[in-house]
Amino acid sequence: MRTKRVVPHMGKRIFHPELKYCLECQSQLERCCTISQRTVITLNQVVRLIHCGYRCPQPTCPGRSRLYRSAQADALALPGFTFGLDVVLLVGQLRLGQHQTVDEVHHTLLQRLAPFQQTISRREILFLFEAYTALLRTGTEVTYDQEWRDVVQLNGGLLISLDGIQPDKGNETIYLVRDLLDFALARSRERDVDHQGKHQATTRASGCA
Ligand SMILES: [Zn+2]
Repeated sequence: MRTKRVVPHMGKRIFHPELKYCLECQSQLERCCTISQRTVITLNQVVRLIHCGYRCPQPTCPGRSRLYRSAQADALALPGFTFGLDVVLLVGQLRLGQHQTVDEVHHTLLQRLAPFQQTISRREILFLFEAYTALLRTGTEVTYDQEWRDVVQLNGGLLISLDGIQPDKGNETIYLVRDLLDFALARSRERDVDHQGKHQATTRASGCA
């Protein structure tokens, strides 16, 4: 039977959209739902995340159905993931960048999470590595994603948010670019600060976290 994760010291963070006014009619946005309420474990903290969704209150506004999200909340973890994006990226970097075995990555992650009294299983490492490779894979696929292009056209363009995530100081910074209008993780760029092994990744993820 799966045992529930015990989280002894957990902060609580409430996220609201960075945008405060409707992009169509400039009315002040109003809270309409809780997009997600979950625990996220990052390399620096364990946090209870409450992500609030907002909409335009004007019934006749053409942007009435648009759900406004917090880019900061979306940057913390992929939809449905307990471990943060920084953990996913670190697993990928250790495996592909430093050629560590799964057992070595597992050992490293256990050490990194120990200060927060958190553990991670070998199976979870494999799952996070799969997520990392999926991010890289879709990076090449999005160019041919006609459905996404249609959505972008319908939205009248892209509203871009850019996050730089550096799981380990001095190693690599991964840049994630999201389309806030479609909650698409539109493009990520991974750059080695030593200018070695550059590669690009583009990805998208849709739906609520
Ligand atoms: Zn509006």
